[in-house]
Amino acid sequence: MTDKIRRRHIQIETHEVTIIRNGSGRTFELCPKCQAMVNALSPNEAAREIQMSGEEIITLVNNGEIHLVEQTGDHEVLICGNSLENQNS
Ligand SMILES: [Zn+2]
Repeated sequence: MTDKIRRRHIQIETHEVTIIRNGSGRTFELCPKCQAMVNALSPNEAAREIQMSGEEIITLVNNGEIHLVEQTGDHEVLICGNSLENQNS
């Protein structure tokens, strides 16, 4: 048995996405599920934020409990901070 994480292929249609960056390095992206601008975190940041491992993050993403947003340009996958807050409770 391999412990390999199966990453679901995620394709997100990007229409007109406005990226807003402020000085603190935070990235705001349009979350396609929230239909709102959200604080977007890297998977590592997200894991730290809710004190979970990267694998747990991916599980939650696959379960649809937390959302992915794809950063335009470099195709980096980011986590919707809005959906993360729901995990914190
Ligand atoms: Zn979201």
